[in-house]
Amino acid sequence: MIETRSLAFAYAQAPVLRFPDVTVPQGGTLLLRGPSGSGKSTWLALVAGLLTPASGQVVVAGQAVHALAGAARDGWRARTLGFLPQKLFLSEALSVADNLGLVFFATGQAVDHGAIHRALAALDLSALAGRKPSQLSGGQAQRVALARALLLQPKVLLVDEPTASLDDEACAAALDLLQRSAAAAGATLVISTHDARVVQALPEAQTLRLAREGTA
Ligand code: ADP
Ligand code: MG
Repeated sequence: MIETRSLAFAYAQAPVLRFPDVTVPQGGTLLLRGPSGSGKSTWLALVAGLLTPASGQVVVAGQAVHALAGAARDGWRARTLGFLPQKLFLSEALSVADNLGLVFFATGQAVDHGAIHRALAALDLSALAGRKPSQLSGGQAQRVALARALLLQPKVLLVDEPTASLDDEACAAALDLLQRSAAAAGATLVISTHDARVVQALPEAQTLRLAREGTA
């Protein structure tokens, strides 16, 4: 579940971004829509506790995100959220499997190699476990980042503009995979997008519309 109330944020020397209130039930899907610069990535960062709101509240899976700080907030994020950012942030120095292994360091847990292999198998990536990210196609790298986001069975999966660089076939496959993965985990799914194909593919999904310059 995600609930925001009177949420606002301001970057230094920039106008205040104000976000409409939203409540997404656990297991629901939210499309976060709006043109480039309307605040989609900022909203995701606020929900993930990567940014602190100027005012207002965010509650995720029963936790008031603004009430957490420092290491407690980092630990909560790693245990609760899966994040598939637009820039994937895979380490080029590490294999696919070891990129997933980093997730366990973020939560202070011992690396669970069985869980890594299951997460890779679920996304048809087992054969690529030993490769470096530079040896993957764009779509494969995105699936690796998705496997990493799902590794600890998050309650909420946040996905930032997943289809921007995909052709129609890959776009449909990525959306299908995101929905099936979130459903299998019982996770709330948020997809930010300004891609009309995503809106067409998910006609039933709840929508939060952001206007340019946060004027909503
Ligand atoms: P979207 O993801 O919808 O394209 P963003 O959340 O990235 O929108 O950006 C919202 C607004 O905040 C834009 O006007 C953008 O230029 C501004 N912005 C984003 N990141 C920063 C930053 N780090 N510093 C200053 N302004 C920023
Ligand atoms: Mg963005």
